[in-house]
Amino acid sequence: MYSDSVCFADQATQHRVPVVFNNQIAENTFRLRFECPEIAQGATPGQFLMLRLANCDEPLIGRPSAMYETEVDRHGHPTFVDVVYVVGGKLTSRLCKFTAGQ
Ligand SMILES: Cc1cc2nc3c(=O)[nH]c(=O)nc-3n(C[C@H](O)[C@H](O)[C@H](O)COP(=O)(O)OP(=O)(O)OC[C@H]3O[C@@H](n4cnc5c(N)ncnc54)[C@H](O)[C@@H]3O)c2cc1C
Repeated sequence: MYSDSVCFADQATQHRVPVVFNNQIAENTFRLRFECPEIAQGATPGQFLMLRLANCDEPLIGRPSAMYETEVDRHGHPTFVDVVYVVGGKLTSRLCKFTAGQ
């Protein structure tokens, strides 16, 4: 019944994505939006992402992050993905410095 489910790990894809915004929403807490129609269109509740920083090998290993929300573009097509993260360690302390377009 679930053999062709898009939520299975063997359907995982990798994308290099631009930051749309990366706003502080609370103490040490940021909401990041990136553009990736491929993920936004196939998002399934309970899925999570593995985040890595482009052109940076510290940290080398991706960090899991829940998908907070997906958002449509002005034509109504699912295009954007939001994550909310708390700044704590290697990845998040670098990620919080990223700005739109990076
Ligand atoms: C399925 C899943 C979903 C997740 N979703 C989210 C999410 O939506 N949002 C989110 O914010 N996180 C989420 N996490 C946690 C996330 O994956 C990371 O663990 C988190 O963001 C920290 O990554 P980091 O590289 O910044 O910290 P790391 O460098 O990996 O450090 C981890 C923690 O250890 C502390 N630490 C590191 N080095 C030291 C040291 N020498 N002494 C004392 N403390 C130290 C850091 O301050 C940090 O709090 C999720 C995890 C899982 C498994």
